[in-house]
Amino acid sequence: MIALEEARGLLAEVTPLKTDCGRVCGGICCRSMEGEETGMLLFPGEEDFYEDLDGWRMLPAGRDLLLICPGECAREDRPLSCRMFPLMPVLREDGSVAVRTDERSRAVCPLAKQGKRGMDPAFVQAVREAGERLIRESAQRAFLRRRAEEQEELKRLRKALTGD
Ligand code: SF4
Ligand code: SF4
Repeated sequence: MIALEEARGLLAEVTPLKTDCGRVCGGICCRSMEGEETGMLLFPGEEDFYEDLDGWRMLPAGRDLLLICPGECAREDRPLSCRMFPLMPVLREDGSVAVRTDERSRAVCPLAKQGKRGMDPAFVQAVREAGERLIRESAQRAFLRRRAEEQEELKRLRKALTGD
């Protein structure tokens, strides 16, 4: 839990751009498609922040929990996945942390194409440091390992479908 709080703290203020990137795209990553709800996976232990918050719900998602948000949120309530989006820390096989563009962002986020090069270096560094703190705890390390496997699968699918 300490690592989680540190990670959330590291990403409490920094954002992908020095200005509000939601102005670039109209905040598309917070909008649900018609008939769908916006959800993001919670890091282990993060559910404690949402249990008593009105308008937020959690659903089981395999070994994890999916948080359904109200579609807008105060910065201090933002889950870690959203604080890091469109980047994410990925656990390499050698145990170190890499910062990658989240495969799921490629379809929605205008910043995803350029990736880290187009973002505020302080944001990229904060995602890296958050990942390095998280991997010190076994539950967080296992969570990041599951995410890394998902990212590889999504990458394989993207290459198979687009050759890109
Ligand atoms: S989709 Fe990308 S550019 Fe738009 S608000 Fe989300 S992170 Fe920012
Ligand atoms: S939790 Fe906040 S930042 Fe994340 S999708 Fe919902 S409204 Fe957007």
